Amino acid sequence: MLKQKKVYLDNSATTIVDAEVVREMQSYFSDIYGNASSFHYFGRQAKMALNSARKKVADIVNAEPEEIFFSGCGTESDNIAILGVIAAHCKKGHIITTKIEHHAVLHTCKYLEKNGHEVTYLDVDKDGVISVEDFKKAIKGDTLLVTIMHANNEVGSIQPIESVASELKKINEKRKDKIYFHTDAVQTTGKIQLNVKKLGIDLLTMSAHKFNGPKGIGAIYIRKGVSVSPITFGGHHEGELRPGTENIPCIVGFAKALEISSNRIEKYSKKVFTLREKLKKGILNVIPDVIINGSGNKAVSSILNVSFSYIEGESLLLMLDMKGIAVSTGSACTSASAEPSHVLSAMRVNPISTQGAIRFSFDYNNTEEDVDYVLEVLPKVVSNLRLMSPVWNNQKTFKNKNEN
Ligand code: PLP
Repeated sequence: MLKQKKVYLDNSATTIVDAEVVREMQSYFSDIYGNASSFHYFGRQAKMALNSARKKVADIVNAEPEEIFFSGCGTESDNIAILGVIAAHCKKGHIITTKIEHHAVLHTCKYLEKNGHEVTYLDVDKDGVISVEDFKKAIKGDTLLVTIMHANNEVGSIQPIESVASELKKINEKRKDKIYFHTDAVQTTGKIQLNVKKLGIDLLTMSAHKFNGPKGIGAIYIRKGVSVSPITFGGHHEGELRPGTENIPCIVGFAKALEISSNRIEKYSKKVFTLREKLKKGILNVIPDVIINGSGNKAVSSILNVSFSYIEGESLLLMLDMKGIAVSTGSACTSASAEPSHVLSAMRVNPISTQGAIRFSFDYNNTEEDVDYVLEVLPKVVSNLRLMSPVWNNQKTFKNKNEN
């Protein structure tokens, strides 16, 4: 039997772990397996690996090692940032976020709302980008935290983090109670050169599995001087902020993956941009009634979100899966829900188009052949699904009647 061709274009959900990262992690399972909190040789070796990984990550993002804390994932880092800042300031503060955040941020904000905090959700434009003016208008006397993602995970839109930070700096100069600024950089770490000082933020979330590192390991940058309380309790690990025995193999893998991806950002950007544009042009050339959601010059090059009108995204995803092509209907965490994407809704994409939205997301390991294969399969699959769609058939009949 012929082996089914496989094309993985769901790299915003997770990426393959780089072989060099796997090699680097290996000895921390079998040789250097001590607990980094133990005083003996095995523990000291693990502690050395932990310190050196922390320093590597800090150097890459232009932070101090004491400003980097490892966590269990991006979701946990977002929770530590938001709940931790609120807990440290022990008051019912106002929070500003956006309508297009990942659920790791949105659901945390909803939880705070239920507990008496006020939250403002900023609108986005048709490209999925917030307005700095809207942000300025949203500031209140009791605003305590701003949390705005760096790039969106469904459409790739990049938010004006530096401009928001510079406005916030001016506002903070005139206030007694400072407003803290957190950004979820899960979709940009290792893809855009991150410099925490240049960005001007106080807290930043990262997650290794999005840049060819292992799953289940995240990190958070917290600028020196920003008070953040722990949200889970136990031992003295990670500066008493995140208790629990450190996951040394994954921490080592995080640092190695960040090093590799940061060293090839230019090559990566060129490659994924070329692949995305090839797919975009190919789709627009041969498939009618498609809408590209976002993906302009205000977006990361790795994501192409396309609405195929008159069909269900889930059906398209399943048909492509049968042909060996892995894509997503949006965030992997929401793909089990029939709810339309909150991101596309916030961008005011027509509900019919929202239903047929598919996210193709690229990685350094994808090839031109991958795109060629998608362009060979996709038009037939879309056309077959449309033939089964009553909405498509009604619309065709209506068009034909009007043309006759
Ligand atoms: N934030 C964003 C923007 C994401 O895309 C994701 C994952 O899809 C997360 C947070 C959650 O990261 P993790 O899967 O490491 O919990």
